[in-house]
Amino acid sequence: MKTPKRSWAEPYKIKMVELVHMTSREEREKALVKAGYNTFLLHSKDVYIDLLTDSGTSAMSDRQWAGMMTGDEAYAGSENFYHLEAAIRKYYGYKHVVPTHQGRGAENIISKIMIKPGDIIPGNMYFTTTRLHQELAGGTFADIIIDEAHDSLSEHPFKGNADIGKLDKLVKEHGAKKIAYVSLATSVNMAGGQPVSMQNLRELRAYTLKHKIKIIHDMTRVAENAYFIKVREKGYQNKSVQEIVKEICSLTDGATMSAKKDALVNIGGFLALNDKRLYDEASNLVVVYEGLHTYGGLAGRDMEAMAIGISESVQDDHIRARIGQVEYLGHQLLAMGVPIVIPIGGHGIFIDAKRFLPHLKQTQFPAQTLAAELYLDSGVRTMERGIVSAGRNKETGEHYFPELELVRLTIPRRVYTQAHMDVVAESVNEVFLRRKKIKGLKMTFEPQYLRFFQAKFMPL
Ligand SMILES: *Cc1c(COP(=O)(O)O)cnc(C)c1O
Repeated sequence: MKTPKRSWAEPYKIKMVELVHMTSREEREKALVKAGYNTFLLHSKDVYIDLLTDSGTSAMSDRQWAGMMTGDEAYAGSENFYHLEAAIRKYYGYKHVVPTHQGRGAENIISKIMIKPGDIIPGNMYFTTTRLHQELAGGTFADIIIDEAHDSLSEHPFKGNADIGKLDKLVKEHGAKKIAYVSLATSVNMAGGQPVSMQNLRELRAYTLKHKIKIIHDMTRVAENAYFIKVREKGYQNKSVQEIVKEICSLTDGATMSAKKDALVNIGGFLALNDKRLYDEASNLVVVYEGLHTYGGLAGRDMEAMAIGISESVQDDHIRARIGQVEYLGHQLLAMGVPIVIPIGGHGIFIDAKRFLPHLKQTQFPAQTLAAELYLDSGVRTMERGIVSAGRNKETGEHYFPELELVRLTIPRRVYTQAHMDVVAESVNEVFLRRKKIKGLKMTFEPQYLRFFQAKFMPL
């Protein structure tokens, strides 16, 4: 007998709603031209279902909102800072904490402290702001993610893994002294939200200890990574996400966090360090760029919401439903034959624009084009993660040509329903059915830094 189906459902109910504006196709056409075919430049009121990013777009809980009312807005020594510090020590295990306004604030500080000009920073795939801060500090990023990560069809269960052979080659070539640290992301964003295994982390820890190299953990999506370890890695089925998160952190020396993702807040981040000497430097530098070391650019209420968000983010029920919703959308698209990155990642669905629009050259910006088409079709906002996001090589001035040319449908946490996911899938299918008629774009304006945010385009 077949086991009867048992559905997951959200471990919360809705207490307040936000009305969204519905648009006509004509309105969307106008809005898209005004935005230079860049979904980042659309007004949010013109968007129906916003899958641009999962960053800062989560719905906070009633407990978090209540916590906001207890904000201690003292300039120095706010009570909420100590709550945040306690939550980070309890759930992540790092010793010292410097709050920052968001993730890149922490990246700026750690890069300035740990990178000397000429250093190499190996990492499991680049992230836009992370690499930029490494470069601005005079370093060079080196990709050491396993080859499978660059293949949208590989079903490797841990495509976020670091290739220790690639790291060893860098160490042999440049010497361990030239390696500033290993920049290790959990649930690798640019690879499609793909996790790192505990086994890989342990091997990386052993290797880096031997060579006296630190690991700085980009822990933006650590809870999602922990969930994948729980369901995919031998020996973890009976451990809680909370326990796995702490074990991951224990294998690293410090972390940068964009709390706008996993930690369920609209703004905030931090830098966490175990080394007291590095912490002292960081708490001095944060004063220059963010604010005093007990607020780092945040209001007391923001730190309180973050402390509560951290505790909610590591609950098994929460993560199961969060990833369950992403998988629900992914399975619908797979059933329609839409080419997406597999296995389905933690925070969104990544459409493979090279396979969706094979008739376009990468210099015609297939992913940017597809994001624009999806918006036109239904008002669903997605974003490009391909050649535009990759930017240019700082020495040659040439485009980087990434293997992966993706459109990211990022799912905000606790915001949309299953019916919204159905509407998204149907819209992708509509565009998929007329894909052969779609023409590419040309870039008409290119900013110097992180061009994907503000570049403008025109149809070819
Ligand atoms: C969002 C993000 C960052 C940067 O954080 P911000 O809060 O946007 O400054 C860094 N790393 C990863 C993996 C991210 O997803």
